[in-house]
Amino acid sequence: LDVPLEGNIKVSNISFTYPETGIKAIDNVSFEIKKGETLAIIGRTGSGKSTLANLLLRMYDADQGSISYDQQAIQSFSFDSLRHQVGFVPQQVFLFSDTIANNIAFGLDVADQDLVEQAAKDVAVYDNIIAFDEGFQTHIGERGITLSGGQKQRVSIARALIKDPEILIFDDCLSAVDTKTEEEILNNLSRIMDNKTSIFIAHRISTIKNADHILVMDQGKIIEEGTHEEL
Ligand code: ATP
Repeated sequence: LDVPLEGNIKVSNISFTYPETGIKAIDNVSFEIKKGETLAIIGRTGSGKSTLANLLLRMYDADQGSISYDQQAIQSFSFDSLRHQVGFVPQQVFLFSDTIANNIAFGLDVADQDLVEQAAKDVAVYDNIIAFDEGFQTHIGERGITLSGGQKQRVSIARALIKDPEILIFDDCLSAVDTKTEEEILNNLSRIMDNKTSIFIAHRISTIKNADHILVMDQGKIIEEGTHEEL
């Protein structure tokens, strides 16, 4: 099934235990996100946030319960279809020894320089990049320069944004960015994601203050939920 996703997500009573370790990482979790909404998921380390993101991307299938996109069971979408339509910024940044431009354009058929530069501006890393002698053609990695942790995170977000997906999941991907830059990025993201669905997994409250709805997780369960004002 390769129907374009609109961006509605429904999760009903899902549970998931990692088969290798027997750890029950998700325990009877339910929530719903409508197209255009921003959901935030917070909770201490090990509470199951990343596992939830992995289940939404179908890296694993839940043991119980159901996940649907636009009222279609997640099982009707291939892993590839979801990977193309659900943007994901992982917690661990993965960059290649290649140019910055190619790292941002990774996954696109054509690396359009205007799109690459726009994505870099949206994540507030453009000025850092053009300050290098070779700008966007600067090589990073093994035989190139080393970016700071925050710059790497921003390149990783730009890589997801450039594909312009209807749904974007950000897994704690602003942790190494200072709060002022974070605010600039979040303002840009809320403009870009205005009509799109986004999920922010975060540790810092500052990352999630614009969310329509917040879930607080602990030991695989949702222990609290509401808006920023309610919590
Ligand atoms: P953090 O904030 O540190 O990223 P988290 O809330 O995202 O944590 P998860 O990474 O989802 O939490 O982990 C939930 C539980 O599942 C933890 O007990 C963790 O040890 C376990 N777990 C996570 N990944 C795996 C895996 N690949 N195999 C086995 N157990 C795992």
